[in-house]
Formats: sequence, structure tokens, C-alpha cells
Amino acid sequence: MSGKLFVIGFGPGSADHMTKRAREAIEESEVIIGYKTYVDLVRDLLANKEIISTGMTEEVSRAQAAVKQAESGKKVAVISSGDAGVYGMAGLIYEVLAEKGWKKETGVEVEVIPGISAIQSCAALLGAPVMHDACTISLSDHLTPWAVIAKRIEAAAQADFVIAFYNPKSGRRTRQIVEARTILLRHRSPKTPVGLVKSAYRERQHIVLTDLENMLEHDIGMLTTVIVGNSSTFVHDGVMITPRGYKRKYTLTAAEQPLKPHERLRREAEPWALEQTEPVTDSLRSIAEEALQRVEKKQEDKPISAIFEVAVCPQTTKQFTAQQLMVMAEVTGKNGVMKYTPDHYMKLEVETDNPQKIVERLKQVGLTLLPVGNVLTLKTCDFCDGEKKESIPYAEEIRNRFNGMEMPKELKIGFNGCGMACYGAVHEDIGIVYRKGAFDLFLGAKTVGRDAHPGQLAAEGISPEKLLDTIEKIITEYKEKAHPNERFYKFFKRVGHIAGFAYEERETNVKVQPLSCGD
Ligand code: SAH
Repeated sequence: MSGKLFVIGFGPGSADHMTKRAREAIEESEVIIGYKTYVDLVRDLLANKEIISTGMTEEVSRAQAAVKQAESGKKVAVISSGDAGVYGMAGLIYEVLAEKGWKKETGVEVEVIPGISAIQSCAALLGAPVMHDACTISLSDHLTPWAVIAKRIEAAAQADFVIAFYNPKSGRRTRQIVEARTILLRHRSPKTPVGLVKSAYRERQHIVLTDLENMLEHDIGMLTTVIVGNSSTFVHDGVMITPRGYKRKYTLTAAEQPLKPHERLRREAEPWALEQTEPVTDSLRSIAEEALQRVEKKQEDKPISAIFEVAVCPQTTKQFTAQQLMVMAEVTGKNGVMKYTPDHYMKLEVETDNPQKIVERLKQVGLTLLPVGNVLTLKTCDFCDGEKKESIPYAEEIRNRFNGMEMPKELKIGFNGCGMACYGAVHEDIGIVYRKGAFDLFLGAKTVGRDAHPGQLAAEGISPEKLLDTIEKIITEYKEKAHPNERFYKFFKRVGHIAGFAYEERETNVKVQPLSCGD
């Protein structure tokens, strides 16, 4: 009879979060070896089994005992909380086996069974704080010199990783988490969100949402995992969220300004790659350039096609000509999609490796093209078919300067050429209405929902010379300070003022609960 060694991660601690395979393996085993607390957590499964539970620091003897028992022909389960390969027993077991000259073919059979590690279970309880590049760092310096740990914290902090600190503190080890925080504060804002989760999915589960500044005011112990957000992590209604990443949509902005290879390394082209917050060293730049060259070469061999999205509308007239419609149909082709949007334009989605050609063809027939996605778009009225045309140059200037700019969330500027405002400028994020030679400015409309409302009248009679600067200030503040995906009206409400305009709370008797589409 040959023995078997299971190395099992049983997850955070609740039966519901243990895998089926972990349970089967425990049931199959005759001997269970683990730290006492862990044995207690799976006690229900252990009837009629031999149990070897030892104290915390006797890991090596536990591993040796496990190997010995398995070699004597028994089925042995070594159990760890979370995942056995994350500060658990898996490595140690293999080290002991390797030391003895164990071989896969001839030696005792080993099966490592994965489990949900604390970084995942704690993240789930906090919301979605991990999401992007993250790392785990154990603050226990029993087996690792503190200097090494401190260096890793420094590197992770600098590289803007989301960090999950395991073993943050124990009865005797209390200063490490304090030092870790100090190092983090050299690279991150004191307002960086921090989640403290104690005993995830166990009886004494306790969750605290705080920030770097205040985290030490809360209880942190042996059973706590500390998750520190990156520079874009934010908190929304008690939920910690790290955005998924920097999305680069294949839309008009990209098509109209095809980037030359060296330009792609610019901050505005790939803000996530280089020069975002850190100065770029020459060596980093040359690595990037070399990589780019290789990629370019491959791309030459094989053109990459992607879905190109663009919004199209007639110029100021709002009338499509037959020829325009025919050209739209032609570029969309059999396989493309043409959608009529609630904002009165047609959105084309076409698979292509040459978006530039499409752009040119559409422009030839006098169509106005707008980018799609989280960008700024200007929506003007038709200026009564050109009869009320005085303000058109300002609209054009706004379009030229700002149209297509990337924004935290789609941002619409409505521009209407007279006080009738019949194209609904006051219902856009930013509304501009031309009246008596000057402009009225409306901010923060809520365009949808039962509590939809127009923007508040922020200013009347802004002179044409001041208009552009005012708009620029508003847009810049929104772009720089809003959370990713935060709509303009929400941002305005949250910060209370923008470009010197104060937010005004409005009364509503409409009660709205958070809904999802279709509720
Ligand atoms: N193998 C385990 C980690 C063991 S190290 C895993 O993959 O999760 C022990 C540390 O893990 C604790 O100090 C704590 O930081 C973290 N931890 C383990 N279980 C946890 C739980 N249920 N809730 C919160 N933190 C936990």
C-alpha cells in the first residue's frame, strides 16, 4: 500500500468557501496535520481521523512528520488556511522531500490542492480593491530579514502596486506595520484607501475601511489582512474600488492622429506606459523603443484589424443627404453595424485595419465625425439652418479645442445658438446658450433617471472672450479631479464647486434607490 501526501489550502475558514477537492481530500485522509487553529476550523470533517496539531513555530517538524507518515503508507493531509502555496505549508513540504532525494516517479505521491487566499477573500469583502497589478507582502520577519521586507515595501509602493499585507502584526511584532505605513507615505497620498479585514468568512469577521492616514487608529492583529490601494483606488459608498486599468479605445481620436512609432512613447499616447508620474530613465526608454521596434515589425507582416467605432452626424443642418447615407452604408459594409443613438447621431462599428480611409471617405461627403467612449463631445443645435449664426465661430472653437478629449466619463457640452435652446443644451453635462451677444452657462444636468434635471444656471452673460477660458477651467478640473467613470453632475455635487462656481443643492421629492438597468 502506498501513501499519499495532500497539501491542502482550505480557504478563508468557512465551509462554503472550501473547494470540493479540498473537502474530498480531507475525507480521504487518515492523518490530518496542521496548526491547531486550522484543525479547529475543519473539525467537522475530522471524525475518526488521527490528528497531529502542533503550535505555530513547529512548521518544519510538522512537514517532516507528514512526509514520514505518508512514506509509511498512510494518506496524510497537511492543511493550511487560504492557499497552501501562499505563506503556507506547500513549499516546506517540497523542501523536506527534496532534501531526502524524493522523485516524482518513484517517491510518495503528492497533491497540492489550491484554496482561496486571504488576498482574494478579503478583497471580495472590501469590494474590488485588487483588480489591477497587486502583490502580497508578509510583514513577519521571523524567517525573512526586515531589511529585505522593507526593500520590497519600498519597491511595491514606488511601483504603485496594490498591496496585501499578510501577518501584519502579532503580540510581539508590532512596529512592522507602523514602518510599512511610513514607507508607503513616501510614495502615496495619506488619503489612499486601506481595507482592514480580520477573520474573513469566519465567526469574528470584522471589516474596516480607512486610509493610510488613519489606519493605525484601528485594531490590526494576527488575523488581519491589510489591503492598501494604488493611486487610483477610490471608495464609493463603503466599497473599495481599483479601476481595471487604462483603456485605450480604438476610436476617432486614434484614427485622426495616427501615431508614429516614437510618438507612441509619449505620455498622451500611452499614459500608462511611461512618464506618467515618474521621470523616465534613458535605460527604460531604450528598452521601450527596442520592444516597440520588434512589435512594429511583427505588425507589418500581419495587419491587425480591430473594431473601429465612430459617431457620425450631418454638419449644422441635421439633415442627411442621400449621398451621405449611401457613403455611410458603403463604409459600414455588410458586416459592420450602424446604430442610431439617443443623442441623435449614427454610431458606426466597422472591422478594419485602416480606419483612416473610413474617416476620409466620411469627411469627403461633409459628415461631422465624433469620437466614441469616455471623451468630450460637443452637441450643437442647427442654428436655425444658419439663420442664427453669430455664435457658430465659438462653437467651432470649442469643437476644435476640446472635442474628442479623453475624460473620466463621457462628457457632453450642449451649445445652442439662441435663448430658445430648442436642442436642449441645458440638459447636457455642460450647457451653453447664446443670448444677447453673451453666453449663459448651465452645469451638472442629470440626463437620465426619474430624478433627471437640467443643469443649474451657473452664470449669465459670460462675454465671448471669457467663454473659452471658463470652459477650459471646468473641463480641466473635471479631468484632473474626477474619479474614473464619475459623471460630471456627481463630481460637481461631490466637490461642491468647480472653476469658482458653487454647487447648489436642489430639492426633489423623487426618491431613487440604486437600480440596475431594467429594474
Ligand atoms: N496561506 C494563507 C496565509 C497564511 S499567513 C492564505 O493563503 O491566506 C497568515 C496571514 O494570512 C494572517 O496574518 C492574515 O494576514 C492572513 N489571513 C489568513 N486567513 C485570513 C482570514 N480569514 N481573514 C483575514 N486574513 C487572513
